[in-house]
Amino acid sequence: MREFAYEAVTDPEGAVALVAADPDACFLAGGTNLVDHLKLGVASPRRVVDVSRLPLASIVAGDDGVRIGANARNSDVALHPRVQADLTVLSRALLAGASPQIRNQATTAGNLLQRTRCVYFQDVTTACNKRAPGSGCSAREGYGHHNAVLGGSESCVAVYPGDMAVALTALDATVVVLGPDGERRVPVEELHRLPGDRPDRDTTLAHGELIVGVEVPWLPDGSRSAYHKVRDRAAFAFALASVAGVLRLDGGAVTELRLAWGGVAHKPWRARQAEEALIGRPLDEASVHAAVDLELAAAAAGPANAYKLALLRNVTWLVLRDLAGEGAR
Ligand SMILES: Cc1cc2nc3c(=O)[nH]c(=O)nc-3n(C[C@H](O)[C@H](O)[C@H](O)COP(=O)(O)OP(=O)(O)OC[C@H]3O[C@@H](n4cnc5c(N)ncnc54)[C@H](O)[C@@H]3O)c2cc1C
Repeated sequence: MREFAYEAVTDPEGAVALVAADPDACFLAGGTNLVDHLKLGVASPRRVVDVSRLPLASIVAGDDGVRIGANARNSDVALHPRVQADLTVLSRALLAGASPQIRNQATTAGNLLQRTRCVYFQDVTTACNKRAPGSGCSAREGYGHHNAVLGGSESCVAVYPGDMAVALTALDATVVVLGPDGERRVPVEELHRLPGDRPDRDTTLAHGELIVGVEVPWLPDGSRSAYHKVRDRAAFAFALASVAGVLRLDGGAVTELRLAWGGVAHKPWRARQAEEALIGRPLDEASVHAAVDLELAAAAAGPANAYKLALLRNVTWLVLRDLAGEGAR
């Protein structure tokens, strides 16, 4: 492991100034992802700026929604009474992740910015364009069980592994970011990016930008939300595919629908074509499958990961059928 300088900061502006000024510096929050990367040699910063003591851990429920501080722990967000009652999809997504011990340590910002679990990204003896730009992509011809089926590129077929960001995508959340020039707001759907020919860049954040919070609007009256994750085993496993859904039916027809998929692309995938196909229609299995197929028209899968297409079709129907209750046909 490369030696690095460690600095704990007490104000957000100081944290931004330190990291923005040094291309070889990075932030540390709960450490549950970054410290693994330091040990594996996946990350080798010269300076680590600890932001975990910044006063950014509050969870404030207001009239329009909830504001979650960047340092709010995953367990505190998941078990917040208003989140559990009114933003079920977010609570469920968080509780589907990791373990109680890790959720007690992991922060909201760190969770958003966790890096891919692609086995080649984590194995420094192999070629990986995300870890070592220009070295190649071992996953394309290698073990492909977890590879992306949507939005992949010649350079990279890794998937974004997190659960919380998928729920936040269905909730139309906004990420509040502090940079050297002040604060800006980024729709969560625009935080992560597709790999293209720069898979080393996970997000649209500039180096040195600090996430300070996430704003989540309440759902429209009469809407319900849910999260369903399919994984290789019941705990301690990342999504093979997951579905976050928000649904409202009026008179048997879909009037509000938001769908986001996890485990299938380099970013949480907002299934807008599927949403559009279902709005204004009654909800039944055949039309949900047809809507999912429309979204998947651009999918690219091989023998090792084609199962994800079937999972998306079936799990999307499962989530919407459960949300609709007796409103589903
Ligand atoms: C065994 C295991 C199982 C897991 N299973 C799951 C799972 O099923 N689902 C799931 O979603 N996650 C899972 N995780 C991942 C876990 O959720 C993340 O490791 C955790 O959320 C990261 O948060 P952290 O605060 O520890 O981040 P850190 O490790 O401290 O940081 C992660 C990244 O975020 C950056 N960062 C941190 N804070 C900020 C900030 N304020 N602004 C800008 N950048 C920042 C860091 O520089 C770093 O790049 C698992 C982890 C482990 C170890």
